[in-house]
Amino acid sequence: MFLKKLHITGFKSFADPVSLEFSKGISAIVGPNGSGKSNITDAIKWVLGEQSIKSLRGKKMEDVIFSGTDKKSPTGYAEVVLVMDNGDGSLVDYPQEVSISRKLYRSGDSDYAINKKSCKLKDVHSIFMDTGLGKNGYSLISQGGIENIIASSPGELRSIFEEAVGIVSYKTKKNEAEKKLEQTQNHLDRLRDIMVEIE
Ligand code: ATP
Repeated sequence: MFLKKLHITGFKSFADPVSLEFSKGISAIVGPNGSGKSNITDAIKWVLGEQSIKSLRGKKMEDVIFSGTDKKSPTGYAEVVLVMDNGDGSLVDYPQEVSISRKLYRSGDSDYAINKKSCKLKDVHSIFMDTGLGKNGYSLISQGGIENIIASSPGELRSIFEEAVGIVSYKTKKNEAEKKLEQTQNHLDRLRDIMVEIE
């Protein structure tokens, strides 16, 4: 699996639609200071479901929408579409090409979609779980990121290794199953109480 295309519209400094194509292997983005290199990695983080505006170098989520310049008016929304090549079948049960999109309007309305089908943030997180990409992935390492990993607590380090070896989805499923078991136990307790009352 590799990042194949990125379409950015109205996101940060990219007022007009921009499409980037990547090939397998290493790609480098070069350009003068302030030209928008980091905004590209921000766009990738954002479409993968980043919720922390601090990590996107803004103050409020609306800051990701193009805020206008002397020559251009602000845009009403930001949209990022990321296309993954899934030729190796890393994303099980998904076609050869998988697109993930996120759109945010100034009104605060937002939408995620997988292969153009509207979905929830949870679906975007679960598709990339254990792949190294996604919210808790280690594919995007920002400036200072290595130092942060070195300074991580044992618990945080453990999460990084768990994602790398691919057990996060099992842990999530286990937690969900435990929650359901607890709910069922509560229902059983309630039923028992009612039965005692009736008898
Ligand atoms: P450096 O090499 O210095 O790290 P860079 O190429 O990574 O720079 P970015 O940080 O990606 O540059 O882009 C910074 C530019 O993006 C600034 O000019 C800033 O004004 C612009 N920018 C950020 N958010 C918005 C926004 N919402 N609307 C318009 N422009 C924005």
